[in-house]
Amino acid sequence: MIELQWINILVLLVSVPLVLTLAAALYYNFRTLPRRHGAADSIYECTACGHVYTFARNRPMDRCPRCGNLNEAVRM
Ligand SMILES: [Zn+2]
Repeated sequence: MIELQWINILVLLVSVPLVLTLAAALYYNFRTLPRRHGAADSIYECTACGHVYTFARNRPMDRCPRCGNLNEAVRM
């Protein structure tokens, strides 16, 4: 039977959450990477002034650079 020493328990208590945190950080980092081949730009059309603009970030709503009106993305 394997006897656990206090140092082994301490190493497990520290290293397991660190590895889980690292795995979660890597997962969210790769999940939020922008897609390639031009699919990363979101297109917005301002409902107040009609200005059409794009942003590289995929957000459902963004402010118009001309008038500051909040608009929904036409295409994500
Ligand atoms: Zn506008």
